This record gives sequence, C-alpha cells and structure tokens, in this order.
Amino acid sequence: MKHTKIVCPYCQSENIAHIVYGEVAFDEELNEALEKGEIHLGGCCYYNDSPKYHCNDCKKNFPESEHDPDKEFNW
Ligand SMILES: [Zn+2]
Repeated sequence: MKHTKIVCPYCQSENIAHIVYGEVAFDEELNEALEKGEIHLGGCCYYNDSPKYHCNDCKKNFPESEHDPDKEFNW
C-alpha cells in the first residue's frame, strides 16, 4: 500500500495510518497493513467530519486537509 507522505499536524510524525471505515475483510493483506501501521480501523460508520488519518505516534486522528489545529477529535 503506497501513499504520499502525510505528516501529523500535531507531532510532525510521518508514521501515519489511513483510517478505514466500514466492514473490512480480514485477510493477510489487511493484517499486514495493520501490523505495519499503514491503516487504522475507524469503526463501522463514516461521517462527513470523520478523520481520514491516524497518527501512530501521538494517537491522534486528523482529516486530510483543512486542518484546524485547535479542533480535537475525541475517539
Ligand atoms: Zn502525531
């Protein structure tokens, strides 16, 4: 799974996982991505304001763009 470098707006880490919503099929590829921290399971439901990325270092979630540093996502 390749993607462009995304940097955490909170801690500037590049150790970022894509948050996956909805039902996921657990297979080898998914488990591998989870272990590598490439994806993060966000739960069953996706909302318009749901974050798209998860920082593996500070454990915060953040949206793809239009980031507001004062807005906290409480999950
Ligand atoms: Zn971070």
